[in-house]
Amino acid sequence: MDTTLRINSAQVGSSFVAQIEKISGQKLLACYQCGKCSAGCPMAAYMDVLPNQMIRMAQLGMRQQLLETRAIWMCVSCLTCNSRCPKGIRIAEVIEALRKAALGGGERNDHLEIMELSPEARSVLPPIATISALRKLTS
Ligand code: SF4
Ligand code: SF4
Repeated sequence: MDTTLRINSAQVGSSFVAQIEKISGQKLLACYQCGKCSAGCPMAAYMDVLPNQMIRMAQLGMRQQLLETRAIWMCVSCLTCNSRCPKGIRIAEVIEALRKAALGGGERNDHLEIMELSPEARSVLPPIATISALRKLTS
């Protein structure tokens, strides 16, 4: 029973990393947790999970926990983290991909048609959601 659960978790994690890598075009597994992205982030004080922790959670396949964080909506796409990463990972694109995954769901989690959402949903979405829907970074 335990073995089955471990295999399933690994499969989910692998699938989630692959999904985010596909949307963002970034190699998440290259991150070795130096923390430079978080150290330079002007929004870190407002995040419940820091940028390097987002990468780690994605590596571990913590899909649900990560997509429910406030942090993915706090990033303002200033690109400071991108310029600091010694591994060349563009973290802002990864976070944008996480927003897409959070908004899209199901089979369409790499794409969002903002006008297909209900007026109620659009009225409560943070502005960065609309920006992400327009694929500011990953188009
Ligand atoms: S792009 Fe987002 S995560 Fe990166 S430094 Fe700027 S606010 Fe922080
Ligand atoms: S700067 Fe790059 S390598 Fe360092 S923790 Fe952030 S994403 Fe990982």
